[in-house]
Amino acid sequence: MTESADLIKSNLEAVVHRVNAAAARAGRDPSDIKLIGVTKTIDTARIKAAYDCGISDFGENRVQELCKKADILDINCNWHLIGHLQTNKVKYIIDRVSLIHSLDSHDLAVEINRRAESAGRIADVLVQVNVAGEDSKFGIRPEETLGFIKDVSRMGNIRVKGLMTIAPLAVDPEDVRWVFAGLGKLRIDISRENIDNVDMTCLSMGMSNDFEVAIEEGSNMVRIGTALFGKR
Ligand SMILES: *Cc1c(COP(=O)(O)O)cnc(C)c1O
Repeated sequence: MTESADLIKSNLEAVVHRVNAAAARAGRDPSDIKLIGVTKTIDTARIKAAYDCGISDFGENRVQELCKKADILDINCNWHLIGHLQTNKVKYIIDRVSLIHSLDSHDLAVEINRRAESAGRIADVLVQVNVAGEDSKFGIRPEETLGFIKDVSRMGNIRVKGLMTIAPLAVDPEDVRWVFAGLGKLRIDISRENIDNVDMTCLSMGMSNDFEVAIEEGSNMVRIGTALFGKR
């Protein structure tokens, strides 16, 4: 094994240990929590090394980078689009990603629906919610999320599978616990509505800095880059 593959392996063991401990604190089954390796700026050799360690889900925030790596890598993994998606780029990823985490506008939903229909498939998406109300971040406002999801639920080739958020950068992750708790509550409120064509299975929240708090607040998809691959 190369030095960098060794490092990824030990980093993964440390992350899994922390995921398990956070799940235990919350009385949850750790196997319900999916670890998504965030590979932006990471070369394909290191992605392959992570895959060989057992990671089967990878997240990219840029369409071009995702497509290029998916083309090069001959591995049987799931790709997740986790960054803001421009409508004119939907066509490139519609049949390559298993989940879009960043649905954040009506126009984007219309385009995803249209492209999914012509590709003869159903696109699974998460609605990105700007829980903290940061100007610098994309996402639907919490109070508009239910109405937005009702609108999307009428589009036949999109299936809403849950919610995603990015917490503000914080030195102490306890300071953003309220953000994760807020998304967890929104998920419960929306699932109670029993909207056709919508389920609230996935709660995508938590990154290297704050994933333990996110898990304690119900996250079942953590998006981890730095803690696996080192500083970008
Ligand atoms: C970069 C990124 C991550 C991973 O961030 P780390 O702090 O490196 O773990 C997770 N989610 C999104 C949307 C990102 O852009």
